Amino acid sequence: MSETLANGMIAQLKPQKNQLDERGLLRYGKMLIDGEWVDALSGKTFESRYPGSGEVIAHVAAGDAADVDRAVKAAQRAFTDGDYRKMNGADRGRLLWNIADLMERHIEELAELETLDNGKPLVESLKVDLPQSIACFRYYAGWAGKTTGETIETNARANAFAYTLREPLGVCGQIIPWNFPIQMAAWKLAPAIACGNTVVIKPAEQTSVSLLRLGELMMEAGLPKGVVNIVTGFGETAGAALVAHPGVEKIAFTGSVEVGKLIMRHAAGTLKKVTLELGGKSPNIVFADSNLELAAKVALMGIFFNQGQMCTAGSRILIESSAREQFLEVLAGRAAKMAVGDPLDPKTRMGSLVSEEQMNRVLGYVEKGKAEGAQLLSGGGRVGTQGYFVTPTVFDNVSNDMTIAREEIFGPVASVITFNDAEEALRIANDSAFGLASAVWTTDLKKALTFARGIKAGTVWVNTYNMTDNALPFGGYKDSGFGRELGSAALDVYTQTKTVYIDLN
Ligand code: NAP
Ligand code: MG
Repeated sequence: MSETLANGMIAQLKPQKNQLDERGLLRYGKMLIDGEWVDALSGKTFESRYPGSGEVIAHVAAGDAADVDRAVKAAQRAFTDGDYRKMNGADRGRLLWNIADLMERHIEELAELETLDNGKPLVESLKVDLPQSIACFRYYAGWAGKTTGETIETNARANAFAYTLREPLGVCGQIIPWNFPIQMAAWKLAPAIACGNTVVIKPAEQTSVSLLRLGELMMEAGLPKGVVNIVTGFGETAGAALVAHPGVEKIAFTGSVEVGKLIMRHAAGTLKKVTLELGGKSPNIVFADSNLELAAKVALMGIFFNQGQMCTAGSRILIESSAREQFLEVLAGRAAKMAVGDPLDPKTRMGSLVSEEQMNRVLGYVEKGKAEGAQLLSGGGRVGTQGYFVTPTVFDNVSNDMTIAREEIFGPVASVITFNDAEEALRIANDSAFGLASAVWTTDLKKALTFARGIKAGTVWVNTYNMTDNALPFGGYKDSGFGRELGSAALDVYTQTKTVYIDLN
């Protein structure tokens, strides 16, 4: 395995000289603390690899509790004094807008780093993740300075005047996953800054590089030092230290249910506010009266986009029995034609899973599906021996109590479940520990609205799938977590309300 970019697949990118270090690896490896690029105090680093080939692309600082402490103190200083304190809402809005402009100017470079980090197709990084992330910064640029309080008539006494202020929380700890590294950062950083908070953010160990480059661009955009600090490292050390630190007011987390529960327990010690976005097992319900061709096409996108590594993945496809044959023919036919390929090739639509560990997890679920009696319609295996490529996999004859219908696989595995009527469809859909997203395909308005009312999930799509929008609240019911990101709803979780009471006697 090559140790230098020059010899490896990544040479295709012809990275600019200033992107490489003396070893020929990407130079993004230092952490951003108080406006400075620093190594971990321990001096430790870890290797970051390109999932498409397994090659080392960077050596990244392994931050731990001592580095988190430095970062939190810098964020506290930035919150209480310094240039950030002097900025009004309009200034913060301009700052967010500047960040978006710089991201746009460097969109190709950021998209390549995102693909090198994560293994997703370059075209997705370039045409979906980056544009949506840029739009997110612009969306919150518009909100900065527009939060309002209320004047409220008092009840206890007439001769008083009262109003509320919406104030930032202070230092926010943000812990993000590897599936959409830049976009998950945008969803958390933009509203936090719009509301005037400061941040310590920890990327997933698999995907630190693109966020470090974004950090450089944020500083170039005029971000005062200490407002955003990036601590790279492992969840059990850097992440846990952020959750335990008394100087952190809030933890915003996206990731697994298991770690979400752990974070909530450990945040209790310092009574931090917590918001959790924890994935799902989302039902995508197709009624016989819908446009089956379109429903099948979109269902594939709903499960195979980003190699299925999506919290909203439509991993349970529910089909009405009378349309089953027709639907499956299109679904399986199209799935069989979806080829995995080199993530860096602009023609590739399915790339590599993020890591060997994730690939083995996914293949383990495929074996479990077979063992429990589901019928494999397509895919189900690894492709090649380099990188972590898995063929788009469709299981039929799945019953909702099988492991592949209950647990989040986080990979390209669809479970097809058949139902007979609307009532049964809703019952199966709700028979899950999760409740993040859902969809219903029908031309019957009554069916659609009844489903939208009955489903226990944070998002319902009708005749579409995976349409997130920076303006719309996003988050879970049940084990999918709580708190909402995006939209004006995110302003609620990055501010607190102060009541001011003035006695006029
Ligand atoms: P994970 O462990 O929940 O990781 C998410 C983030 O939490 C990462 O930044 C991780 O850091 C950090 N973390 C881990 N342990 C922590 C701790 N004790 N305290 C504080 N932070 C901690 O998820 P994963 O291991 O990458 O993936 C496992 C499964 O989780 C996936 O197969 C999938 O089912 C689910 N998942 C869901 C989402 C989602 O969008 N909802 C995203 C990713 C994964 P390190 O990466 O450095 O450990
Ligand atoms: Mg983990």
